[in-house]
Formats: sequence, structure tokens, C-alpha cells
Amino acid sequence: MSFRIAIAQVSSESNHFVPGFSELEFFSNTGYLLEGEDLLRLDSSDTEIGGFLSVLLGDQEVEVVPLIAARANSANPLSDKCYTYLKDQILNRLEHNPSIQGILISNHGSMCVQSKDDPEGDLAQSIRKVIGSEAPLAITLDLHGNVTQEMVQASNLIIGYRTYPHSDAFKTGEKAAKLLMQTVRGQINPVVALAQLPLLLTSFHASTEGNGPFAKLRKEADQIEQTHLKVLSASVFNVGSYIDVPELGCSAVVITNNDKAEAKRCANKLASQHWNDRKSYEVEILEVENAVRLGQEIEGGPILLLDTADTTGGGAAGDGITLVKRLLELKIMESTLATVVDPETVHMCRGHAIGSKIQIEVGHRIDSRWGQPLKTKATIMNRSDGRIRYQGGIFGGTEVSMGPSVVLKIESIQLLVTTYPTYEWAHEQYDSMGMYVEQAKFVCVKNMMNFRQGYADIMKGFFVVNLPGPTPTNMRLLPFQRIRRPVYPIDKMPDVITPKVTTNL
Ligand SMILES: [Zn+2]
Repeated sequence: MSFRIAIAQVSSESNHFVPGFSELEFFSNTGYLLEGEDLLRLDSSDTEIGGFLSVLLGDQEVEVVPLIAARANSANPLSDKCYTYLKDQILNRLEHNPSIQGILISNHGSMCVQSKDDPEGDLAQSIRKVIGSEAPLAITLDLHGNVTQEMVQASNLIIGYRTYPHSDAFKTGEKAAKLLMQTVRGQINPVVALAQLPLLLTSFHASTEGNGPFAKLRKEADQIEQTHLKVLSASVFNVGSYIDVPELGCSAVVITNNDKAEAKRCANKLASQHWNDRKSYEVEILEVENAVRLGQEIEGGPILLLDTADTTGGGAAGDGITLVKRLLELKIMESTLATVVDPETVHMCRGHAIGSKIQIEVGHRIDSRWGQPLKTKATIMNRSDGRIRYQGGIFGGTEVSMGPSVVLKIESIQLLVTTYPTYEWAHEQYDSMGMYVEQAKFVCVKNMMNFRQGYADIMKGFFVVNLPGPTPTNMRLLPFQRIRRPVYPIDKMPDVITPKVTTNL
């Protein structure tokens, strides 16, 4: 007897506050796009697919049916054409592989498409139509995923990451695959309960390490998993995604073995704790000059200046240059590293030799709503094809591209200019260009969480600085138009609320 198990991945986090739409090239450039058997190349990666394969390839009774693996950095929503291609790849391959007995899908949860608010729900429903009502369907999600009614209705298992910074994509895949196989073999009968909250929280204080509010919530979820015998999985989702869709909010998903009431009770408990701690997620933000002054008072470096409003891992274009402008106005003398996405500037540097001094106009070319370009003279210090290899995180062990890239020197600042925005795990981007973070006094980082891990051994301090952009740490700053109201923290809300709890059965 053998079980035919299909596996697929379509993963990117969207941001509605960045103009335009992402095309298929965005996956192949900033992540990976592997079709059919090529997907098996992720066998030894740290990704969810690596986790799926570790279980399935080790099971003598399983025949793996690889569909597609597409992962990109976060960005603006996908174009309809791009999404339709990815969806058709999955559905066509499923139609050519009848008798699928189970399927594992890796999604982010907060992906959007040009004309679809919930493509992951749509994908799950469409897969369900092809495979029928019997074969179990498991979905893995980022813990920033926005879990929807449609996803829950179409699936048998929903498993979120447990860690932030995200270091457990593999384990999440592994867990989903184990539970899926138990379901396929009839050993368990999972019931999914989803508790949704009118709550939007940014990620800055949402680490699962230490004693912050989200770490405590995750510990409570662990406790529920360990002490409630019927609970198969408890996931909590801290949604501060920058997508403007009606069904946006934090949630909890609890899966039990055939006990609907218990699943609902536990999901409600976790969501209520999340609500009660909501005020602990507020972030202290400093003006650039204050952060620099405080940094100068600290001996040594690097001191991180966090441009959280231009977080490329949150979908921002990464083209913000306001921090560099402010540092130049402040005439800082210390060695400083910064980064910006600007394909036009990279292109302009092409005909000039290393060491040339040229006039540039850099930054805010993709989205001028958040600022104006910096016009200055700069010296070309280095250039490359932009290939980088990640040492950890959701891309761990894979290679992606920043696109053609150059390093420019402007006064005491070394500015890395790339063609594409890439996910910031540690400092792989700077390393690849010979920009040494250990030797810099200030390092500008477009990230709100991973720096805690990536710079843990070297940083002497960090400050969130007040800058414009589409991924602020204060959700009140964004021009949401379609989210359901009232919602915290934008509207005045009661202290006690009842989460909306639904199940898949
Ligand atoms: Zn995430």
C-alpha cells in the first residue's frame, strides 16, 4: 500500500501600501521558483519544503508528488497574471496526478493579489475541488499570516511558525507532514478552530524569545499543546501585516483530535490573552538626531539605526533614503553602512569604473509618497551581480539575488544600492559586498526583528528611528480604507471582547 502525497509552496507577504504588482520574476530573483521534480532540490534546505520532505521521503509507504515551490521576499501584491500562473501550475499538476491521498501547502497567510483579498483561501478551495472532500489538506503559515474563514473551511490542518525571528520553517513543515500522515492513515481526525480578533499589532515587540507579550502568549500555546491531551497543535498569529483587506486581524488556531468544543475553548483562551496584552506592543521611536547622539555616547559599534518603516521583509520597496539624508545633514563623521533599492542608480553606474566620482540621484524612485531622492556626488567603491546565500531564517541554505548592485561612498557613509529588495535575515547583503558591519559605528537596518538574532553577538545598541514608509511600527500611520472597523489600535475599543470563534467541521 502506498500513499500519494502532493506538496507545494506559494509564499510571499504582500504590502498594499507599495504601488504596483509583483510578477513571476520576483520569485525567481528574490527567492526561488521550482517546478515539478526540481522542487526536490529543497530536500536539504531549512524551508517548509525541507521539513515536508524529511518526513515523506523517510516513509516507505509514501510516494511524493512535487507540484511547485515558489517563495519570494515580501512585496506589493502579486499581479493577477502571476497568481494565475502559480495556481494553474498546482491545479494542472494535480489534475494529471489522480488519486492524491493528501496534500501539504506552504503559504505565508498574508499574500494578496491584484484582484483577490485572500488568494491562499482561494487556492485551498480550488485544490479542494480537484482532490475531493476526502483527502486531507494541510497548510503551513508564517506567524504573521492572516488566517481566514476560507482557509479554515478548505483545510484539515493549519500550522503556524512558533518562532520569531523565524527559525522554524523546517520544523513547521515537519510537524504538518507528520500530522497529515497520521490523518491520512486514519489515526487522528483533526478539528480546526479559529478565533479572530479586531486587532492589528506590529512586530517589534513580538519576539518569541525573552519575556515580551508575544513570547508569553507562545508559552501559553505550548502549555496547551503539552497539557491538553486532545490538542494536536496550537498556533498564535500576530498580524500586523500591511494588507488592506476586510478580514485582517490577529488570531489563534487550535487543532484537536476530534473534539470541537475543546478546540474552540483553547482558541478562545489564547485570543483573549492576546487581546488583554495588546497595549504592551507600543514602540518607542526616536528622532534620527536623538538616536545618533545616544549612539555616539556608547563606546564602539555597531549601533543599529532601525528604519522599520522601510522593512523589506514586510513588503516595503526598500527605496527609502531619508535616513541617509538626515545623517548627511547631521554631518556624522563615523563610518556608517546603509542600503537602498534603486535599479536606475545601479544602471547609471554601469559605465563608470570603480573609484569614479559621479553625480547621483538615489532613493524613493519606486514610491515617491514617502520622500524625495538624494542628489549628491558619490564614489563607486564596489559592484557585484548581487548573489547572496542565507545563513538562517526562512530562506536558510538557499541563494537569492539582490540583482546587479553597487557600493557608493558619500562622506562617511557606504551606501549599498541594489536592484531588488531582499529579505533581511542577518547582514548577508553587506557581507557579500565587503562591507564590514563589525567595523562600522552605525549600521542602518531595514528590519524590525531579525536584527536581534543576526547582530546579537556584535551590536552595541539599537534604536528605532522616526522615518516615513509603508511598514511603520505604528499602525495608526497607515491609510487603511478597507479593513473592518472598529479595530485596535486605530479605534477606541472595549477592554473586554469576545473573539469570533469558528471551526472547519
Ligand atoms: Zn513573518
